[in-house]
Amino acid sequence: MDLTYTEDEEQFRDELRSWLRANIPDEWTRPGFWRSLPSDESFRMRRDWERDKAMAGFAGIEWPVEFGGRGGTPGMKAIYDEEMVAARAPQTVNALGLTFLAPTVMAIGTAEQKRDIIGPMLRNEVIWCQGFSEPGAGSDLAALSTRGVRDGDEFVVNGQKVWTTNASHGDKIFAMVRTEPGDSKHRGISMLLIDMHQPGVEARPLRQLSGDSEFGEVFFTDARVKATDCLGSLGEGWGTAMLLLSFERGASGIGQYTEFRRQYDEIVRVARRLGRAQEPVARQQLARCLAELECLRYHAMHVLTQVEQGRDLGSEASLTKLQWSETFQDLWEVFDDIAGPEAVLAQPRPGLDLIPMQAQAFWSRSVTIWGGSSQVQRNIVAERLLGLPR
Ligand SMILES: Cc1cc2nc3c(=O)[nH]c(=O)nc-3n(C[C@H](O)[C@H](O)[C@H](O)COP(=O)(O)OP(=O)(O)OC[C@H]3O[C@@H](n4cnc5c(N)ncnc54)[C@H](O)[C@@H]3O)c2cc1C
Repeated sequence: MDLTYTEDEEQFRDELRSWLRANIPDEWTRPGFWRSLPSDESFRMRRDWERDKAMAGFAGIEWPVEFGGRGGTPGMKAIYDEEMVAARAPQTVNALGLTFLAPTVMAIGTAEQKRDIIGPMLRNEVIWCQGFSEPGAGSDLAALSTRGVRDGDEFVVNGQKVWTTNASHGDKIFAMVRTEPGDSKHRGISMLLIDMHQPGVEARPLRQLSGDSEFGEVFFTDARVKATDCLGSLGEGWGTAMLLLSFERGASGIGQYTEFRRQYDEIVRVARRLGRAQEPVARQQLARCLAELECLRYHAMHVLTQVEQGRDLGSEASLTKLQWSETFQDLWEVFDDIAGPEAVLAQPRPGLDLIPMQAQAFWSRSVTIWGGSSQVQRNIVAERLLGLPR
């Protein structure tokens, strides 16, 4: 494990840091600023800012230059993640497209798909949603029942997706749709790239614990999509989906450590202000969190080293998911214990900036569900890494 960055990488850090300093207004970094805006306005502002950042060359850090990326190293991507968090930069509005869809298109897309999808996504001209989960299909994704019936050179799609992040702001959705009979439940599925701005697609927001509606339901009623708008081969969507989900891994753990460590400091600040910081149990809980955070940091370094050496992490990515999600959730459970009723009161005591912290604590409940639940990750570790029987 090499813990140093190269000279080029450090120079990239300086350039990025200067750009972020010049382009993030001070008030944007105030705790609770984004939550104080109507959600449509905050989404639009973040969308525009992220486009400008891409135009300045600070997007697609590791992507090849031919796709509009910067052609950088995994180390530069780690620096990017770290600096974005340190500068309290707005979070991406196109995470599902950038993390999952773009690398899949680069790997298996047609020439037209590479041309039409990647550049516009990088500039946020098209916001992508992921249409996998359905009311009857979550961890068991192959149980999905949304159907596409061939009509000339198009498919007519009917069905429903749920928990769709950005449903209300999405322009297009990469959706798993059953298009052929198939001899097993994993076959006969296609990944269709469906335009959400058509009469046959309706997105309805779902209200979350925090009061936000970051996700929603998407209903397809005779929605139309060209048969050529299929990523990968028709009927072979399962393989496309497995490839797509494998791109969640990578060096993002460094940025997560930086973010969670800052959150830890905020929780310590609240413990002090509430007079709980000297209590033995609270101190023990905080110390355990700090130890977990440091383990996360070294694991992130290990992953970065693997990626830099061109090694495929394979099922080890499940360990990363388990480690970051459970560290994050533990941290916010400690906040719940320390803040007590203040962790959930609609009007907590003023002066402590508790509202954005409450939102984080609510959000932390979801991270062991999406992207593969903790139970499913443990199954993968047990079967594929430890070789235990199914
Ligand atoms: C904030 C958030 C955002 C999301 N965004 C999207 C999105 O953009 N697009 C999208 O398609 N989906 C999205 N999802 C959905 C997410 O992928 C699913 O919630 C997830 O796959 C789990 O499916 P489920 O909710 O149907 O639960 P289920 O699969 O029904 O699981 C219920 C419980 O059973 C456990 N379980 C299930 N199978 C097994 C097993 N084989 N062994 C042991 N335990 C098992 C699970 O761990 C869980 O505890 C999002 C979810 C959340 C919370």
